[in-house]
Amino acid sequence: MSDPSYRGRFAPSPTGLLHAGSLSTAVGSYLEARGRGGQWLLRMEDLDPPREVPGAAADILRTLEAFGFEWDGEVVYQSRRHHLYRAALEQLIASGRAYACCCTRKEIAALARRGPDGYVYPGTCRDGCPDGREGRAWRLRVDEGESVLRDRLQGEYGQNLARDIGDFVLLRADGFWAYQLAVVVDDAEQGVTDIVRGADLLVSTPRQLAVYGALGREAPGYCHLPVLTNAAGEKLSKQTLAPAIGVDDAARRLRGALARLGHAPPAECGDLAELWRWAIANWSLSRVPRGPLLAELD
Ligand code: GLU
Repeated sequence: MSDPSYRGRFAPSPTGLLHAGSLSTAVGSYLEARGRGGQWLLRMEDLDPPREVPGAAADILRTLEAFGFEWDGEVVYQSRRHHLYRAALEQLIASGRAYACCCTRKEIAALARRGPDGYVYPGTCRDGCPDGREGRAWRLRVDEGESVLRDRLQGEYGQNLARDIGDFVLLRADGFWAYQLAVVVDDAEQGVTDIVRGADLLVSTPRQLAVYGALGREAPGYCHLPVLTNAAGEKLSKQTLAPAIGVDDAARRLRGALARLGHAPPAECGDLAELWRWAIANWSLSRVPRGPLLAELD
């Protein structure tokens, strides 16, 4: 299915090096884009300096390059785009959708229920901060009601933002931009039509749809790929100590990543160029398992 207007992207955070899980996501999003003759952008989500690992951004780019990924245009760095996030927040404040919040984590924890992604904000500052207190974070006022999205791989996913998440943070009290705002502003500004990423982010998607709606921007399509887990069933991540992938054995690793995504290449595809050629010509989302998938690590 050719669609040259398709625009995908890969958006790693340099909080660690690439591991088998992030490689798998990169491979899936790349093949969805290239399989249709579309574009594939690369964006470094470097908005959280305290959590970043020095040198990780450059290492991620080198690793992607060594695996033979070819991105369109220049790499975009979120750390250079604060003005865009600021303008979006101003718009949301002006339209009454964003409000200042003075609550500390501790205060929220004392009052709130837990939802599918942490505490549900109890709405303390919805109608203004309590007397004598000043807001430092900004939150989006969410609507009542169920929001349902149709994910191209995971099917229907529903969430009731008011019940499950509550008004969520756009600008953090420590002055850093929240992922939920920045990712929407960037995907909209970069003209991304289709987001392919790990299924761990499905829980965030209704929040992002709410931001698109509040900004009056058209939302992209979504496809959440299976996450890779270790033998204990934990998602591979920096927190679960997933080993960084090396590049010396890239063709074998790419072959493994393709096989896990339901596309085991024929034996005669030997090098990276042949593997990519085969994968781009043969990629079909209908062959990709919903996961989660066990990664044999090496
Ligand atoms: N930067 C996010 C991460 O590495 C991914 C964001 C996205 O794809 O929407 O988990």
